[in-house]
Amino acid sequence: MKAEILAALRDAQGYVSGQELCERLGVSRTAVWKGIQKLRAEGYQIKAVSNKGYLLVESPDLLNGEELKSRCKTVWAGREVVYFDVTDSTNIQAKRLAEEGWPHGTLVVAGRQKAGRGRRGRAWESPENTGIFMTLLLRPELLPKQASMLTIVAAMAVAKAVRESCGLAAGIKWPNDIVLNGRKICGILTEMNTEIDTINYVVIGIGINVSNKHFAEDAAAIATSIALEGGKNISRAALIWEVWRQFEAYYDSFCASGNLSGIRQEYNACLVNRNRQVRVLDPKEPFTGIARGIADHGELMVETDQGIEPVSSGEVSVRGLYGYV
Ligand code: ATP
Repeated sequence: MKAEILAALRDAQGYVSGQELCERLGVSRTAVWKGIQKLRAEGYQIKAVSNKGYLLVESPDLLNGEELKSRCKTVWAGREVVYFDVTDSTNIQAKRLAEEGWPHGTLVVAGRQKAGRGRRGRAWESPENTGIFMTLLLRPELLPKQASMLTIVAAMAVAKAVRESCGLAAGIKWPNDIVLNGRKICGILTEMNTEIDTINYVVIGIGINVSNKHFAEDAAAIATSIALEGGKNISRAALIWEVWRQFEAYYDSFCASGNLSGIRQEYNACLVNRNRQVRVLDPKEPFTGIARGIADHGELMVETDQGIEPVSSGEVSVRGLYGYV
């Protein structure tokens, strides 16, 4: 009920009358009034003017199931939302839901993670009320070898969403870290469950630093947040939906071709490593070269004295010669 009232207030281009709300929601005026009071108690500023109706003046940066559902602007990504105030990790929860049979497009969101993870078991700092911690469950008709490209699709979606919603020049550090001024604001962890040549499910976990003011030791040297970089004040819920709205468009392009040909140019334009010297931390043999951009299957093309070397993500990390980027 609260979610429906919120959605109606947000859709309105100004005031929405009590009568209109009653009709749209199929409830009495008293029920609408009670819903409005509950929303106000949660911090929503709603103006009520006789003969005009209700106007949503300001929303707090709340994250909960209702706030999320009322702001949904996607076709399929996040049609089912499972919200936790606190959880171990949204990837763990999404994998559990996948095993229980939840559908393609289920979105898990948490206010805080107790055991947020990056690649290779590294910790992801996830303090309360500062960031976005979410995971999308997909059941794609792809071959397992195509799944790593989904990480690039997700990185492109986050970069575009941050650019459009926060007015910041978000870049991408290959393959899937989003950076502002050379520091990381977002990490993405894609995991999957497969048979020999089919995918049972994929989960794409995304952590975005929104209003963090400081970071603990491990991340302090490389991390920043949208607020620290002077980005527009945006609610986490709004940014979440902008990410998935962008994701749907890039995902369609990816599924149509089965590769990244439709995204490559835009991705390469955001790539902060492009035309810079990088150190490829290949566990077998690290090497140095100049990153030239990604190929259609997401490999980073690194120019060395021996020619162009395609680098696949997997176990490899890429660093700048003198630091993280
Ligand atoms: P790679 O390039 O190999 O992926 P990475 O350092 O980017 O390396 P991730 O798995 O993406 O690795 O992220 C984990 C790392 O990110 C941690 O080791 C820590 O240094 C850093 N980190 C942890 N929490 C945050 C955070 N909230 N914001 C930014 N960086 C963080």
